Amino acid sequence: MHTAVDTQLIQALDSAHFLHPFTDLKDLQARGARVITRAQDIYVWDSEDRRMLDAMSGLWCVNVGYGRKELADAASQQMMTLPYYNSFFQTTNVPAAKLAAKLAALAPDVGERSFKHVFYSSSGSESNDSNVRMVRRYWDLLGQPQRKTIISRMNAYHGSTMAGASLGGMRDMHAQGDLPIPGITHIGQPYFFENGAPGESAEDFGVRAAGWLETKILEVGAEKVAAFIAEPLQGAGGVIIPPASYWPEIQRIVDKYGILLISDEVICAFGRLGHWFGYEKFGYKPDLITFAKAITGGYIPLGGVMVGNRVAKVLIEQGGEFTHGYTYSGHPVACAVALANLDIMERENLPGRVRDDVGPYLARAFAQLETHPLVGVAETCGFVGGLVLVRNPQTREKFKADLNVGMVCRGHCFANGLIMRAVGDRMIIAPPLTMTHAQIDEMLALIVKCLDSTYADVR
Ligand code: PLP
Repeated sequence: MHTAVDTQLIQALDSAHFLHPFTDLKDLQARGARVITRAQDIYVWDSEDRRMLDAMSGLWCVNVGYGRKELADAASQQMMTLPYYNSFFQTTNVPAAKLAAKLAALAPDVGERSFKHVFYSSSGSESNDSNVRMVRRYWDLLGQPQRKTIISRMNAYHGSTMAGASLGGMRDMHAQGDLPIPGITHIGQPYFFENGAPGESAEDFGVRAAGWLETKILEVGAEKVAAFIAEPLQGAGGVIIPPASYWPEIQRIVDKYGILLISDEVICAFGRLGHWFGYEKFGYKPDLITFAKAITGGYIPLGGVMVGNRVAKVLIEQGGEFTHGYTYSGHPVACAVALANLDIMERENLPGRVRDDVGPYLARAFAQLETHPLVGVAETCGFVGGLVLVRNPQTREKFKADLNVGMVCRGHCFANGLIMRAVGDRMIIAPPLTMTHAQIDEMLALIVKCLDSTYADVR
């Protein structure tokens, strides 16, 4: 079904009126936006009816694929029953209560930190703002108001609000608007390919990189540190997968100093790493979990924080009113869609499928890319993958930054009907978890084609 769209008209309206996120606005006016009009399964179509294989699941969110009628039906039914009501002032609604219980049931028990409570928002950014407020409130209630500093990592992405962008470690975001805000500081990222020392093993590097947290805690003063926040693996930073030794050492350090651990799972939760939650993959025990995106398959905005017992107990028993919340906290339609989406994921066993079937299949296929003359390292974890484009895979010599090799490759992807994301010289994927083996093969063939075209341009 091709819906006729006047591309030039939409582009003109768009350029004249729509200030896009993360877009060079002048460049957009000159070139016009790509107009996406429809989607089905793992494909999206633009207004010129060009089909593209969406290897990014939108923005890491359409884990169940496009065109799920069940989700549209859930939204429509809920809209006709109760389209909106707030959850302030001792009020709730059926889908919000059921979803909170469902999430509590899905999160594996991690002892003292078990997850029985959820705080709702509409996005990952808002959820991380909520984290900052909750963490500060927690330490205030425990009579340790000096514990205000949150430690994060360079090249992390935790959102775009003032707190989200400050928690994130993106230099270009910090450069706009005097960020980070006070009370947030950063350590290096566990990126072995870039930061491993000559002769150092990945496992030794993982322990060394985790040690940067201890150094920072001591520098700030352990009694002033409130929490450490991290993604299980860094997504928007370029799919940086930590060595297996990294998280156990982080756990040891946060436990030693008694600081809270926030696992930002906006990308990694809901099957992406072959488990319901990313912390299960790496085997650590967070106190708070940020979620958003794939909880609804991206079909409607919903986010939140899963609050572990250690924090929830203090907020509930000692906190009185928590003066924080959003108009759309626990939105009934978003929660109804999330429940239907989790039903699909359970019925189709998507986390298990990623863990035992399509994840390993993708890992084998993706690793083959390391034989390409442009590829330094190509690795996956569950259903995310990243490869680094280098001038010389043997010496790991990089391309000059002004060549923008990632953007060159991304251009070839679009031209060949493949949506991949470029992060500097890294090309990354996070496809829908529903992909068949044949679709994985199709994606890999397209990736090779685009790498070949890039190689022809830059060698
Ligand atoms: N945290 C992580 C790990 C993310 O990847 C993102 C978005 O990509 C966010 C937070 C922000 O989420 P949102 O864009 O929904 O505010």
